[in-house]
Amino acid sequence: MVAARETALPLDLARIRADFPVLSRQVNGHPLVYLDSAASAQQPAAVIDAVAGYARAHHANVHRGVHTLSQEATALYEGARERVRRFVNAASVAEIVFVRGATEAINLVAQSFGRPQFAAGDEIVVTRLEHHSNIVPWQLLAAETGARVRVVPINGRGVVDFEAYLGLLGPRTRLVALAHVSNALGTVLPVAAFVAAARERGIATVIDGAQAAPHLPVDVQAIGCDFYAFSAHKMYGPTGIGVLYAREALLAAMPPWQGGGDMILTVSFEGSTWNHLPHRFEAGTPNIGGAVGLGAAIDYLGGVGAARIAAHEQDLLEYATARLAGIPGLTLVGTAPDKSSLVSFTVEGVHPHDLGTVLDSRGIAVRTGHHCAMPVMEHFGVPATTRASFGLYNTRAEVDALHAALGDAIRMLR
Ligand code: PMP
Repeated sequence: MVAARETALPLDLARIRADFPVLSRQVNGHPLVYLDSAASAQQPAAVIDAVAGYARAHHANVHRGVHTLSQEATALYEGARERVRRFVNAASVAEIVFVRGATEAINLVAQSFGRPQFAAGDEIVVTRLEHHSNIVPWQLLAAETGARVRVVPINGRGVVDFEAYLGLLGPRTRLVALAHVSNALGTVLPVAAFVAAARERGIATVIDGAQAAPHLPVDVQAIGCDFYAFSAHKMYGPTGIGVLYAREALLAAMPPWQGGGDMILTVSFEGSTWNHLPHRFEAGTPNIGGAVGLGAAIDYLGGVGAARIAAHEQDLLEYATARLAGIPGLTLVGTAPDKSSLVSFTVEGVHPHDLGTVLDSRGIAVRTGHHCAMPVMEHFGVPATTRASFGLYNTRAEVDALHAALGDAIRMLR
């Protein structure tokens, strides 16, 4: 009931936009139209102020000091961890490891979960639409252990082939790693179904949630995954901080992956003992200010409401899809029925980088290139696409601005 009522209320976009200082700036003489949130979302003043407020009044090292500032910094840092726990509905804060971002989270799983256990002939299953950060760590692990990376195909719309996935799960499959949402195509994967099939067969699961956390409600217990990775900077928080959710029973059995301060209980030259979870996986002084900013971003998202954000972004997606589809020579890349918050496209006879440059001259920020998903580009037979991605602050008027500028740019570049 609450969710339905919440969905029915549209976002107050003028108020939301006023929360993001950068959105009032001009770029190349035009009001900024920021359509690159999938790469990095902008930060609301609440996040910027939380990070600055920490630096101004509470900064000290965490966990080690008896003095007041250190205790305050520790309370802020651990308070952020509890916010993250609630945000993903983890059972315990012991399951929330702060890392640099999704990339580091996935590398941590590969190195600490995979490397000690996997052997020659073991198989790691990924999908074709993965970001490089959910491919290369597994290739490195495969090279180190003799394991093999196997790839689930996608179809012409950018949907992952579930039957082919089931066919790839075999007695040698040790781990499945897949995106919740594709950064290159926008495809939303039915991750709970993928995870259930793996779990039935005793296979570990890693979800790359970098593109899901800002847009969809994330419930790691409902998904049932063993690991879930995401980055603060894609969800209106700062760079340099992200999260690995890891099921406690698995994390408890994993060896540390980096050694140093804070991850130990005792150190002697006869041997050292490891700290409790999750600190065992956070060697050295962490990004305390970043964690504070992530906590503020989670509060901000919660204040706006996940259901309202999803409804608004879905509206933008449908509006943009319809408008862009009407541009002659423009081909949408990624047309899955279940999509989130971005449009990726090519324009006949126009190179994406040229298009991006002309759009920038009109103050419109889009991303062009392979989007760190070269196997996706190969699948669609293109070297690159132009991608416009939406955040909660974007408007239909900005989609109109993109549409108009695209028309002009295409006329100019052809
Ligand atoms: N996975 C996906 C789907 C992404 O879009 C990204 C960022 N582009 C990453 C992983 C890596 O995130 P980060 O660079 O923050 O580690």
